[in-house]
Amino acid sequence: MLEKGVIPNQEPLVSVGIHLPQDKFNATTISFTDPKLFEITINGNPISIQSELKLKVKDGYIENEAASIVNISQLSILRKDQCLSENQGLIIHSVVAGRGFHWQKEISVQLPGHVIIEVRDDFLFTVNEVPLEQYLICVATSEMSANCPDALLEAQTIAARSWVLAASEKKHADLGLDACNDDCCQRYQGIGSRSPSAKKASLSTRGKVLIVNEQICDTRYSKCCGGRTEDNELTWKTEQKSYLRSVFDGPEEIKNNLSNENVVKSWIESQHGCYCGPKYVSANDINEYLGEVDKIDNYYRWSVHYTQREIVNLISEKTGNYFDFISAMIPILRGKSGRIMELRIDGIVNGDNSSIMLKSEYEIRRVLHPDFLYSSAFIIETNSSVGKEQLQFTLHGAGWGHGVGLCQIGALGMALAGYDSKTILAHYYQSSELINIYD
Ligand SMILES: [Zn+2]
Ligand SMILES: [Zn+2]
Repeated sequence: MLEKGVIPNQEPLVSVGIHLPQDKFNATTISFTDPKLFEITINGNPISIQSELKLKVKDGYIENEAASIVNISQLSILRKDQCLSENQGLIIHSVVAGRGFHWQKEISVQLPGHVIIEVRDDFLFTVNEVPLEQYLICVATSEMSANCPDALLEAQTIAARSWVLAASEKKHADLGLDACNDDCCQRYQGIGSRSPSAKKASLSTRGKVLIVNEQICDTRYSKCCGGRTEDNELTWKTEQKSYLRSVFDGPEEIKNNLSNENVVKSWIESQHGCYCGPKYVSANDINEYLGEVDKIDNYYRWSVHYTQREIVNLISEKTGNYFDFISAMIPILRGKSGRIMELRIDGIVNGDNSSIMLKSEYEIRRVLHPDFLYSSAFIIETNSSVGKEQLQFTLHGAGWGHGVGLCQIGALGMALAGYDSKTILAHYYQSSELINIYD
């Protein structure tokens, strides 16, 4: 596992979780183009196989489907040669993509590096140990389509490399992982989607990271800031980072304070010529350049409408506070990108006035949508024309994601406009410096 604060002087291996215990998988199939390319061991003893391994969990151990091999506590599949071509590899079936989100689905992934399978909490726990640069090639095209301009893929690759090496989040440290395979860390879908352009981006930026004060930057990024990025400390209640400041996402700085209710209203109602807006990236561009799972438009400015019944059901179900009526949603605190960080919801519970407070942008997004709201940068329009008891709500919003750090659509807009990766990174991670830590 990578260690926070340690800067490696050669390319490290990264441990990526493929099946997490929380996925609750108790069966999977692994297929090989050529099993002879791997050294496969069960509890430390080598075995040979034909072409496929069908595995299931039974009584705290793994066994193969035919039950000819039982009591497996660890199955390891080591690649004899790390530099196999793209078509030679192993494929793991039944892997979650979009874990916990409305786009969650099961996919098959072809993986580079080694694979180790164990049982954790009675479910499969599969780890891919992969050289960092190979991991990054896969991340670059899993996050964005391979058709993206070089500058965008390079910027994305440097941000992804810095994020892994900074090892600040460590969301799965209890499992000994550097990252999981999904949006919660960085989307990693193996070498199936690997492209020549992503490979080029890795090669041309090999070993390059962003630093500030001799520390690798915790380079956060999100899909679309909505026109202005957000400060890190309000979003995660973490220590303020000089390179994660709110920046206006366009060529000509507009100085505005979006934490003010009146300013944010006119902001969301207009377009402003931002890098992540339609002036730089059209709706057609989006479908061409976004990764497979994200084919949705209207992310820059969007609206979601709820009837009284819908909003009552939604909030009651998501918070466990069973409202009879919702009378208002009041933003209490907004960040500089206009994202609401604290929202008060007023209504009636069992005949009495009642209020609840949603205290983070994540919680607001989780509660105010059946799946997950694009962002918490929204204004609230109420409509009582159908009668006060039927009060309706429309959220008019901007952006997609937490908005801190690099804006992926904005970086795409900058790349399409001809900016190079260094300029793109300097725009989003102000005060950072680009250096090379290994060859
Ligand atoms: Zn994760
Ligand atoms: Zn943006």
